[in-house]
Amino acid sequence: MREGSLEAPTRHPLDWKSDDFWNIDSLNHELERVFDLCHGCRRCVSLCQAFPVLFDLVDNSPTMEVDGVAKADYGKVVEQCYLCDLCYQTKCPYIPPHEWNIDFPHLMLRAKAVDFRNGGAKISSKLISNTRLVGKLASIPIVVETVNWGNKNPTLRGLLEKTLDVHHDAQLPTYHSPSARSRLKGNQDDGAKAVAAGPTSGKVAIFITCYGDHNHPKMVEDLVAVLRHNGVAVKLLARESCCGMPKLELGDLDTVEKYKNANLPQFIEAVNEGWDLMAPVPSCVLMFKQEIPLMFPGDEAAQKVKRAFFDPFEYLMHRHAAGLFKTDFKNELGKIAWQVACHQRVQNIGPKTRDVLNLVPNTEVVTIERCSGHDGTYGVKKATYELSRKIAKPVETRVKQAAPQHFTSDCVMAGAHIAHGLGDGTSAEHPISLIRNAYGI
Ligand code: SF4
Ligand code: SF4
Repeated sequence: MREGSLEAPTRHPLDWKSDDFWNIDSLNHELERVFDLCHGCRRCVSLCQAFPVLFDLVDNSPTMEVDGVAKADYGKVVEQCYLCDLCYQTKCPYIPPHEWNIDFPHLMLRAKAVDFRNGGAKISSKLISNTRLVGKLASIPIVVETVNWGNKNPTLRGLLEKTLDVHHDAQLPTYHSPSARSRLKGNQDDGAKAVAAGPTSGKVAIFITCYGDHNHPKMVEDLVAVLRHNGVAVKLLARESCCGMPKLELGDLDTVEKYKNANLPQFIEAVNEGWDLMAPVPSCVLMFKQEIPLMFPGDEAAQKVKRAFFDPFEYLMHRHAAGLFKTDFKNELGKIAWQVACHQRVQNIGPKTRDVLNLVPNTEVVTIERCSGHDGTYGVKKATYELSRKIAKPVETRVKQAAPQHFTSDCVMAGAHIAHGLGDGTSAEHPISLIRNAYGI
């Protein structure tokens, strides 16, 4: 038996509509099989906490093998996985078509889903993963300042830790009013003069994202400005539900389906009119490029959306290849430390953000290909915050060593988490904002 990687990897759909997927004996059997193979391999030990927890359980068991680990302890491994997908995409030689057929992230997702359906998720986790509702409520004009003040108030943070399990030191996002949607209201192109190039149509319908709408509206405004500067027509998708990533991480697959059903009809309408789709948050892009198509392999709309969805920098590099990306930069950027967000890395599009930043004269990009440890709710929950800080440490060290003029990550949550750990006044800037600054527009 040889290791894989000689043939192109294949990703099997998530078989969550089958009865076997939800069968606890079948799940435990598969967990034991895969844990045993991982125990013999141990390649992923440095990626996250899931693997060290597994190997400690094995090493401290009476047999020092997986058969000595109590099945009741399997959940300790599962709760450390935040579905970054790195083990599958960057490390494992035993992914399909290898006969061992290991898909560690999707096995963790299955275990989370079974646990969720059996009532395993806490109310607090259900609430903080409802990013759209929390964002909407927190950014109501008269509420927003109180929420932002409360997020910095030690007494209220203590209360938040007790009631919602949000660690008192975790970096919570600032809420903004007006939202990105309000700021850009009425600011829509018709796309009549769009110029197609390569796989791009030259007209983009933007999925703002929960985070972009309420926590980082400037990022969305900057994206719109950069696209328009490059002659790309832009409109916002009229209505949005959450992409579903926070619910996926919780194992709440039924809600992911509900969100998908709310989002896809208008996506398809836009695609049928020739619009490409884009989101400024890598996790949301990954949902539409990978997770939803794998959850709904027979849904033609999901497959069509997958083909039409782009990462912003992937899109700009396609335009550059066709000679349609402007390089009339007015400002240099100097040295930039760029943390590669896991959910962008696993899209397998290459370092397109770095490629675009490198087009700005006198700009040097230091690439940091390590996980931030934030990964949605993992970096804010009381139970996992300290572990997430430990995962972020090597990134923080690399940023310090680089001594850059700018620190950036395509994932604004990861960027804020790392900047918080640096604790020296560094703030994370989104790369699309750096490009807008370089243009001086
Ligand atoms: S998907 Fe990410 S967090 Fe989960 S086990 Fe793999 S590397 Fe760890
Ligand atoms: S996921 Fe694959 S590479 Fe990672 S420890 Fe398990 S068998 Fe090894």
